Amino acid sequence: MYIDEDGKRRCTLEERAQRSRTLKGHTISAETRRKMSKAKKGKAPWNKGKKGCQDAWNKGKTKEDYPQLVVTEERKMKMRILSKGRKHTEASRAKMRDACKNRTPMSQEIKDKISISVKKNPNRYWLGKKRSEETIKKIQATRRKNGVIISEETRRKISISLKGHKGYWLGKHCSEETKKKLSEKQKGEKGSNWQGGIANLPYSCSFDKELKELIRNRDNYQCQLCGMHESENIIKLAAHHIDYDKKNSNPRNLISLCKSCHMKTNHNGLKWKTYFSKKIEEIMNSKTMRLKNVKEQHFINE
Ligand SMILES: [Zn+2]
Repeated sequence: MYIDEDGKRRCTLEERAQRSRTLKGHTISAETRRKMSKAKKGKAPWNKGKKGCQDAWNKGKTKEDYPQLVVTEERKMKMRILSKGRKHTEASRAKMRDACKNRTPMSQEIKDKISISVKKNPNRYWLGKKRSEETIKKIQATRRKNGVIISEETRRKISISLKGHKGYWLGKHCSEETKKKLSEKQKGEKGSNWQGGIANLPYSCSFDKELKELIRNRDNYQCQLCGMHESENIIKLAAHHIDYDKKNSNPRNLISLCKSCHMKTNHNGLKWKTYFSKKIEEIMNSKTMRLKNVKEQHFINE
């Protein structure tokens, strides 16, 4: 409580918020109800004798008529404080959902307006906010389970909106301290890409230079994802373990990939496993066919 310039007692914002919280869900006692009803007796309701829809109280009024109602930045801030920690009840959320169902789609004009205002003031909803540990874990679990699937259309839209857009980190550098912090965060089990510690497992004995060379030779020294030839690469092609089991050095489990494509396989393991399993079948089939042809050729020549 404080006394304002006119000598009136006023509540601070925090007090108002507190009061509103304690009043939430309160009931009016039977006695109070009786009193209220008594006081109202004999008074005509405001809409008695009036017919049809009434005009809104602010119809035809401009901002100049009610300067106190213009939503200024200060007012916005106050509203933010007052509504902090409040949540819609399940019933009102259902109502909102229902109301959304029948709404007419937004016109292109309005969409453009929104898009412009968003661009002017890129206050993203999650900017500076943090999700709880629990929520993060849930999100991670569903992503791991379903894989992150982005539809073709969304991809196209993202690509269009990103055109000419300079990356946030372009030309910027982290401080050494930040780098260290980031690296600590990604270490071991805490990292987003932790796969149960397989990175530290030793490769099997037979997975040596010779085998890798054989695999590269089998794959015609070409990356089996993008098709780039080894000579175009700075470093040699890598032999990727299709089932991610480093001990399984069966040639059927190994495939040649360039560095960039090999990096891609660090995510969405399941997807790549199915993709390369098919690919290796094709390669093996074509190889046996060729071998067969060569043998037959020999036979004819002899
Ligand atoms: Zn490649």
